[in-house]
Order: sequence, then structure tokens, then C-alpha cells
Amino acid sequence: MSPESKPLDEFGLIGWIRSRTKSRSQTIRGIGDDCAQLRPSPGSDLLITTDMLMDGRHFELAVAGPRAVGYKALGVNLSDIAAMAGIPTAAVIAVSLPRRDAISVAQGLHDGLSELAERFGVDLVGGDTNAWDGPLVISITLLGQTTERGPVLRTGAKPGDLIYVTGPLGGSLAGRHLRPEPRVAEALALHEAVGLHALVDISDGVAADLGHILEESGNLGAILDAGRIPIHTDVEFESLRDGRSPLEHALHDGEDFELCFTIAPEDASRLEALRLPSIVLHQIGLVTAEPSLRLRTEGDQVVPLEARGFNHLHPSP
Ligand code: ADP
Ligand code: MG
Repeated sequence: MSPESKPLDEFGLIGWIRSRTKSRSQTIRGIGDDCAQLRPSPGSDLLITTDMLMDGRHFELAVAGPRAVGYKALGVNLSDIAAMAGIPTAAVIAVSLPRRDAISVAQGLHDGLSELAERFGVDLVGGDTNAWDGPLVISITLLGQTTERGPVLRTGAKPGDLIYVTGPLGGSLAGRHLRPEPRVAEALALHEAVGLHALVDISDGVAADLGHILEESGNLGAILDAGRIPIHTDVEFESLRDGRSPLEHALHDGEDFELCFTIAPEDASRLEALRLPSIVLHQIGLVTAEPSLRLRTEGDQVVPLEARGFNHLHPSP
């Protein structure tokens, strides 16, 4: 039996992960001791985010496979760092593995998340490994740092701001939710180029996530233009399946992982003139002092829009 095919135990698994992990200069000590030791860049603030994914809720392990789950678990965390216009740096991974297949599931998870960690320059600096008779749960804590321009918060929207999203929305359940494309570089480039007032990533649906910006910015409102909402081609499939309109899917489906931001009109003109390479911009509406979310229909009527999206604690999920 070759060493590769010998069954691993917990420490063998951690050794396997460790042997495949490179570290960058900020990581003084990664996997192997009781804590990781990092040295933050002088002058920058630490960003910390965590997201937990559960089999049967955020993915179906039997359908998606562990590699896709690992990819998604780090992807959604990267998207949160992007949503502050930060730079991701280091990740800590906690897993509850299903006892059957524990090692192959863990290795698959690692393959998937390593793909993104490599691409985004994230060090894997530690974690916790458990197995049980329950389903797979993976929780990643991702650290990042602010640029010299500081973070972009949810709190800075102003009446008169234009609202943008960075790509087509809706229908992610058809499969795209497993392959988030974290908009880290896009957020950094936007933050560098112009003064973003408020920024979120779209995880619960644009209506709900824009709702968070409006509420956090002092109970503002917005009018979205139905005709300007970019609708993803995946929506077609989902609409046929459940009979809800494509626009409804684009507004309320979750896990698009595009950015949604608000910006002063003069900065918006400057931004559009810059034509930043590989950044897609859709202006979808306007922030208002009047504190309600509304939709301008294609028939030019203004109707109320519910800031509704995916909600884990909704009484009837
Ligand atoms: P302790 O019991 O002190 O918490 P562990 O035995 O759980 O230590 O972990 C040993 C080392 O391996 C620690 O550095 C820990 O961060 C790391 N580690 C454990 N599980 C994982 C994992 N799934 N991915 C990455 N690192 C891990
Ligand atoms: Mg431990």
C-alpha cells in the first residue's frame, strides 16, 4: 500500500492539509501550533467575517460533491471581504465531517477551497476537524485588511445617489450558487477609482441587501427601475419551474454574489467614463430621502417593493 492510499486519521489528515499549504510573509506561524500567529500590515485595520454552510441547507453534498462545497464555503466569505472593499489574507476552517467518508470529504473540501485560496492570495492558517454521525457542516472564518482608503460600509448612502450592481441577477439556485465569483478585485478597483458611498454583496437578493444599505444609512428609500435590472439567463429555468416572473427572481433570489453600491451622480458619470476593464456596471435605480423601497415598472408606474429575500429564520422557510 503506498503512503498516499493509507487511510488517514485526524492528525494524518491535518498533516496532509499542512503539507499542501504555503504561507505568505504575513503568516509567522500557520497550521501546527495552538494558534496561528499573523503580523498585520502596519496602518491597516483587520477585517473578520465568518460563514457556516450546512448540508441540506446551503448545498446537497450528495449532489454537489465536497470539492464544490469547499469552493463555495470560501467563496461566500471572500465575497464578504469584497463587500467592505478589503483585501483577504488568511482563513481558518472548522469542519464537522460525516463519519462515513470523513477523509475523502475533507480532502475534497480542501481541494475546492484551495483553488480559491490560491487565486485570492489567502493563507490557510488553521482550523478544527471533527467527525460525527450528522451531516457535513463547514464554517470558515476569513481575515482581511483594509486598504489605505479604509473600508466601504453599508452606512454611507445619501439621497440622490445612483445604485449600481456588477452583474446579472437571479436564478443562482440552478447551480451558480455553488460557483460564486467573489468580486474582490472589482471592489478594490472601484474603491480606488471613485468615492463609493455604500457597498454590500448580494447574498440574500438585491431587494433585501439594498434594503440593508438603506436602513443602515438612516432609513432612506430607493426607486429601482424594472427595465434596468439585469436578469441572469439562469432565471429562465427557475421561472419555468416555479412560474414566478424573471424580474421577481432577479430582485429576490439570493446568492448572486455581485456587488451592489451607491455613489453620487457626479462620481457615477466619472466612473462610467473611466471604463474600468472587466468591471460590469448596471445602474438600477436611485436612493431617495422618502424611506420606502419602490419599483418603477416598465409601464412607468411606481409601486411598493418588498425588501424581501432569503431569510433563514423566516417562519415558513
Ligand atoms: P487544538 O487541539 O490545539 O485545537 P488541533 O489538534 O485541533 O489543535 O489542530 C492542530 C493544528 O491543525 C492547529 O494548528 C489547527 O489550527 C490545525 N487544523 C485543524 N484542523 C484543520 C483543518 N481542517 N484545516 C486547517 N487546519 C486545521
Ligand atoms: Mg482544535
